[in-house]
Amino acid sequence: MNSDNNQQPPVRVALTGGIGSGKSTALLMFAARGAAVLSSDRVVHELLEREDVHAKIAASLGIEPLLSGEEGRRQIAESVFTDELQLTRLEDILFPLVAVEIAAWQASAQAMSAPLTVVELPMLFEAGMESGFDRVVLVTAPTEIRQSRHEGRVGITDFEQRASRQLPESEKRARSDYVYDNTGSPEELDGFVAATVAAIIGSEER
Ligand code: ADP
Repeated sequence: MNSDNNQQPPVRVALTGGIGSGKSTALLMFAARGAAVLSSDRVVHELLEREDVHAKIAASLGIEPLLSGEEGRRQIAESVFTDELQLTRLEDILFPLVAVEIAAWQASAQAMSAPLTVVELPMLFEAGMESGFDRVVLVTAPTEIRQSRHEGRVGITDFEQRASRQLPESEKRARSDYVYDNTGSPEELDGFVAATVAAIIGSEER
C-alpha cells in the first residue's frame, strides 16, 4: 500500500452502469482486490439526512419541509417521479453536493492509503462528474437481464439512479476506459474486476 511518501496518489476510478447491471456486486469485488470503495447511493442517503439539504430541496421543489429518513426520501420520490422539471431541480441540488462529498472522501486517509479508489456512481456522465476521476469503468447488461436481476427492487430511492439526462448506451461506452458486458457468471465478473485492477495499477503513467 501507499505508506511510502514517494508513491503516487491512488488512481481515482468511477464505476458506472444502469440499475441491475451489477455495479454493487462489482464494487464489493473491487474492495476484495484492495480498492477503497464508496457507494454514491450511500452518499445521497447521508445527504438526505442533513437539515440544510432538506431545506434546500423543499424550497426548490416547492414541497412541504421534508421528513427525515425513509419518509423524506418517499416525499422526494413522489415529487420527482413523473415530473422531469422537479427531477432536474433535485439533481441541481444533489449532484454538486455529491461531487464535494466524493472529493472529500478521495482525499481522506483511508482512501489515500489504497492503490486505487472506486466510487460507484450511476449518474457519472449525466452529472458531468468525469473530471473527478482518472478512469471510468462501465458495467452493462441488456435491459431484460437487468430487470430480472433487479426484480422488485425499484423502490423509493430509485430516483437516485435515474438521472433526467440519460445518455445513450453507445455514448457511455465511448466515454469509458473499461467496459464489461455482465451477461456471464459472477465468477466472470470477478475475473474482469481482477484484470481491471491489475491493468489500472500496472499502467501508472498518469
Ligand atoms: P446494481 O448495483 O448495478 O443495481 P447489483 O450489483 O445489485 O446491480 O446486481 C443486481 C443483482 O444481480 C444482484 O442480486 C446481484 O447479486 C446479481 N448479479 C450481478 N451480477 C451477476 C452475474 N454476473 N450473474 C448473476 N447474478 C448477478
